[in-house]
Amino acid sequence: MADETPKAEDFLAQIDHRPPARQWMDVPTEIRKGMYCYAANPKSVEYLGLPNARQWNPIEDDWQLPDNWQQILHEGFKERLERFRSVKVFMDICVRCGACADKCHFFLGTGDPKNMPVLRAELLRSVYRNDFTKMGKLLGRLNGARPMTAEVLKEWWYYLFQCTECRRCSVFCPYGIDTAEITIFGRELLNLLGLNIDWIATPVANCYRTGNHLGIQPHAFKDMLDFFVDDIEEITGIRVEPNFNKKGADILFITPSGDVFADPGTYSCMGYMILFHFLKEKYGLDVTWSTYGSEGGNFGFFTSHETMKRLNAKMYLEAKRLGVKWILGGECGHMWRVIHQYMDTMNGPADFLEEPVNPITGTKFENAKSTKMVHIAEFTADLIKHGKLDLDPKRNDNKIITFHDSCNPARGMGMLDEPRYVIKNVANHFYEMPANTIREQTFCCGSGSGLNAGENMEERMAGGLPRANAVKYVHEKFGVNMLACVCAIDRAALPPLMEYWVPEVEVTGLHELVANALILPGEQERTTDLRGEPLPGMEDADE
Ligand code: SF4
Ligand code: SF4
Repeated sequence: MADETPKAEDFLAQIDHRPPARQWMDVPTEIRKGMYCYAANPKSVEYLGLPNARQWNPIEDDWQLPDNWQQILHEGFKERLERFRSVKVFMDICVRCGACADKCHFFLGTGDPKNMPVLRAELLRSVYRNDFTKMGKLLGRLNGARPMTAEVLKEWWYYLFQCTECRRCSVFCPYGIDTAEITIFGRELLNLLGLNIDWIATPVANCYRTGNHLGIQPHAFKDMLDFFVDDIEEITGIRVEPNFNKKGADILFITPSGDVFADPGTYSCMGYMILFHFLKEKYGLDVTWSTYGSEGGNFGFFTSHETMKRLNAKMYLEAKRLGVKWILGGECGHMWRVIHQYMDTMNGPADFLEEPVNPITGTKFENAKSTKMVHIAEFTADLIKHGKLDLDPKRNDNKIITFHDSCNPARGMGMLDEPRYVIKNVANHFYEMPANTIREQTFCCGSGSGLNAGENMEERMAGGLPRANAVKYVHEKFGVNMLACVCAIDRAALPPLMEYWVPEVEVTGLHELVANALILPGEQERTTDLRGEPLPGMEDADE
């Protein structure tokens, strides 16, 4: 936690939701430490072939903009209004009813009016009116219009990177305006001027170069999984044997690389490996990992439609190269939004793959008919429903669990029941957070869409406050000590959030819980869970 971040007990006192005294257009933007991410490294911008790569610093006055930057933005705006009908509609139809105003976690956590979704969109809409509507041109500010200036550009940059594109606001808008789409559009415009943040630009460049966001090369990716093979053997007595780049395997498995490199995602990764070993032993299912298609998360989504498309294509090219039947995807957030909402019109339909059928149960995954990509929570839920897994939920008895619906799988693909079904079958203690904070109305972790950096901790703790508050409620009421989720960004973002707001609660992925409960053929009596913690009743096993 950065030193400058206020202590949790002082944090709440600084949030002020009262209406400001000044009209929003008159409030200058102050780019404040702890509330912004560092500028994109020019090498990464260059690597992706994006324009205007250069050194610049958000807190300096001069952003080293190209001379014709206003013209670039105007033309970029115009071109996209023609290309993306939704954006044109969203620019025109907001009636400023305010239904979305208090629905954004960043507004709730900061009290900054420009974090109200209606106002965040207005930052762009005011320039749209000025440049593209007759009334705006005629009436100017009276019509809510204003010209693009360096001050407005700073405001765009600051507030478009205080939106996690989570779409919670859209659930409450009577017109279905999706402010996340406006943010995506606005960030794409900023990229025309080389104005990205490094926690996005460098992971995107790495994904493009080596296939995963940390830039890990294929042999190192394999080495990491080999470490897990040793750990699994120590815990279970079974040596699992993952396939790498195996041509002709039944299924290609792709998960976010965060699962391979960072705790607690690593335990989910071990969970996938244990599950696949079980399925191989019992049913002969042949799953392969790819050391080249080694990233499920699509960081291009936070940059531009074009980079999103380029990264999405890599997974499908790898499936084609290996000749698998279909793709199974791990616990990821933005991968699934891209797959379900964009893949078909960007790179799909993936007609060279088969329509996914679970070879063990015969279930057809109708929702994956065109994308040919099945979420592992659906896959495991289906196996459990057909009685195909041997489970001992008591092994998770020391965990009192609640479930955080990750925004993208929940709102992006409607996956609400499958993870809950899995948890209830692999563990005995499960409690829901309040209804207006879960399922379609779930609160964001506050660090999605590329904001999971170290330098913007105050922003992240503010954005995650509503989520943490709901966890605190079930912690105090039911003794919840474990927060489960199906997203790698969540597994990275929620531990510091919990440590700050509800330190008694830990974070887990779904398949960590599954693997704790799963009984492998021939395994030794387990004394610990995947984290090396004693299983319930095994506390004295070492003595
Ligand atoms: S998409 Fe999420 S973060 Fe962005 S304005 Fe809406 S609620 Fe806030
Ligand atoms: S809820 Fe929709 S129409 Fe109402 S202010 Fe928000 S974006 Fe505009």
